[in-house]
Amino acid sequence: MTIGINDFQQKNVSFSVIKRKDLPAHCPPIEAQKWNMHPKVFMQFSNKGEAVCPYCGSKYQLVD
Ligand SMILES: [Zn+2]
Repeated sequence: MTIGINDFQQKNVSFSVIKRKDLPAHCPPIEAQKWNMHPKVFMQFSNKGEAVCPYCGSKYQLVD
């Protein structure tokens, strides 16, 4: 039995969609249960609209 890194990430990392009108986005989101799990950090989106939280690894995708 092999456990790939993708399996690990899918179990432990959250993925959120951020609407452009809701910018600036920060992690953790204020409505998250673990909103205080790390200092609030604002997301820097790449030109693909993707961002990863440097603290918890949560993934964010920017949409219109
Ligand atoms: Zn985070």
